[in-house]
Amino acid sequence: RIALVWFRDDLRLDDHPALRAATEAGYLPLPVYIHAPEEEGGWAPGAASEAWRHRSLRALDAMLRARRSRLRIFRGPSLQTLQSLLAATDAEAVFWNRRYEPAIEQRDAAIKRALRRQGARAESFNGALLFEPWQLATRRGDPYRAFAPFWTSARAAWREPAPWDAPGGFDALPDEDAIPHGLALDALRLAPARGWDDGFWERFVPGERGARDALSAFVEGALHGYRDTRDVPAARGTSRLSPHLHFGEVSVARVAATVRASVDAPPADVERFLGELGWREFSYHLLHHFPQTVDTSLDPRFDDFPWAPPAPARLRAWRRGATGVPIVDAGMRQLRSTGWMHNRVRMIVASYLTKHLRMHWLHGARWFWAALVDADLASNTLGWQWIAGTGADAAPYFRIFNPVVQARRFDPDGAYVARWLPELAALPPPLRFAPWEDPAALRRAAPAYPRRPLVDPAAGRAAALEAYAKVRGPR
Ligand code: FAD
Repeated sequence: RIALVWFRDDLRLDDHPALRAATEAGYLPLPVYIHAPEEEGGWAPGAASEAWRHRSLRALDAMLRARRSRLRIFRGPSLQTLQSLLAATDAEAVFWNRRYEPAIEQRDAAIKRALRRQGARAESFNGALLFEPWQLATRRGDPYRAFAPFWTSARAAWREPAPWDAPGGFDALPDEDAIPHGLALDALRLAPARGWDDGFWERFVPGERGARDALSAFVEGALHGYRDTRDVPAARGTSRLSPHLHFGEVSVARVAATVRASVDAPPADVERFLGELGWREFSYHLLHHFPQTVDTSLDPRFDDFPWAPPAPARLRAWRRGATGVPIVDAGMRQLRSTGWMHNRVRMIVASYLTKHLRMHWLHGARWFWAALVDADLASNTLGWQWIAGTGADAAPYFRIFNPVVQARRFDPDGAYVARWLPELAALPPPLRFAPWEDPAALRRAAPAYPRRPLVDPAAGRAAALEAYAKVRGPR
């Protein structure tokens, strides 16, 4: 008896509920992956994300081969591919772990109905979250719109995760040769041809082993003191687990259990880290209840917001890290070089785009989507709407990050700016954050760096406050 185990954003064997259900029900698991970006509802994965996926799929296949199995790769449409695989293999069942992006939820519900109609067993599981997005609700049964009460109720409902260990090997499939072999991974053309992603792999190792190593390194290192150092972009103060979690190379239950089992870690650091996993949970809660927010502001008062008219040159400067504001440019260059950006700097660059340049948050969300290896529809939507002030639990309208003040506070010795903008390293730290204040020194140190910021931090703040004041009334 065979069951197809349909791998998606759960590219691991450890603590994999669908694989567990298949093996515990006595099926021989047949691992399949279906490439179908056109089914993602306008949010087909971006280039950085696909580069990661390429390596992650390769790693998963290698792990399966070490267990006398392999990953069979196909191109969509997903339903037809599953149907023809069921027919070709005499499999009785299809098991998968749920994804929660709105277009995928709809697609998967339709697939489940169609497979069941034809007599197959089709079942899905939660392999991605600590809580199902619909599980927690206010006393009145409404979705939460603010993080603090959401997380209080999550902590009250907390059940200590008990992750499942994958078997060391799988039983051989009958008549292996008769089963469709699928495509070679390279045929999907996920990996960039020109190597612009080389810098990504200096820090990151996609795949389950890389994820477990990153988790161990974090638990032994940055977890200690996490509460304070998580905000310092020059430090290695966070876990960098986000792409591993997005691709499901490690389960969030495994992460939570490992962190909580770390006996010598200060409880305040552990609790703060769990809270960050909580933001991830909250983002899925919001995405589920407010699916329209992937491209419209949750707060309808922003339908008429006076966003700045289109300014392609300004947007290009922001993307390229050439705004003339060093902390913003450093972040955008870190993103381009590594496929990742520190959370504090994500907030600063997002605030500069939406408040100072007053561009619609979707411009930023789309660029992050293309450039981040951890691009995640739930977290990205929440992050952008939170900063723009258009979403649930939004930062208050008057919270406009001053990039110079932020840099002074979180990068006091200027190490982060110097790392990503080496041309400014010769300027001493206070000036390194606002080089326009000494034009002669700037010209000497970095002749090619913009003379002036695209929008001056103080003037931009005033203009943004005026625009935001128009939507300040009650919801
Ligand atoms: P750690 O501090 O080690 O946190 C552990 C984990 O908690 C992270 O891996 C992540 O899964 C989760 N987490 C932490 N902070 C947040 C948060 N604010 N919201 C949701 N989950 C969080 N995160 C993404 O994974 N994908 C995105 O596309 C994404 N886009 C963002 C866009 C903007 C504008 C902003 C402000 C934030 C965005 N974030 C996104 C959230 C956050 O910046 C990253 O999760 C974090 O920087 C990842 O680094 P880390 O793994 O070292 O985090």
